[in-house]
Amino acid sequence: MRERSRSCPRCKAPIRGYVDECPSCGFEKPVALPWHVYGLMALIFVAAMWFLIDLDAIARAILAVREGLRSM
Ligand SMILES: [Zn+2]
Repeated sequence: MRERSRSCPRCKAPIRGYVDECPSCGFEKPVALPWHVYGLMALIFVAAMWFLIDLDAIARAILAVREGLRSM
């Protein structure tokens, strides 16, 4: 892997890491996030959706059991 120095596209100030704004001129998103960050965000989103779906299924199961106990 090659190490490339990042700089702001507007003021050419060197930028360390991934920042929301250029510390020199305030340019928004001076550094494009690498693809794996988007992949990770998508993964977290899918995991969150899966968790919500799972919770709903558990809630419905508990309600079904409660209804069953009531009818006994
Ligand atoms: Zn800048």
